[in-house]
Amino acid sequence: MTWYVNYYRCPACGHEWDSEWGTMCDEECPECDERAISPCDSEEISEDGERHD
Ligand SMILES: [Zn+2]
Repeated sequence: MTWYVNYYRCPACGHEWDSEWGTMCDEECPECDERAISPCDSEEISEDGERHD
C-alpha cells in the first residue's frame, strides 16, 4: 500500500505542517482552524515508511 506525506500551508495564517495519509486529503489548520486546506505538495512513502527523494 502506498502512503503519502502531504505538506500543507495555511493561506490564512501561514502555518505549515505535514501529515501522512493513504491518499491526498484536505485538512484543517491546527493553528487557526481554517478549513479545507489542500496539500501544496505531497511525497510518496514506501511500505516500510522510508521516504523517496
Ligand atoms: Zn491557519
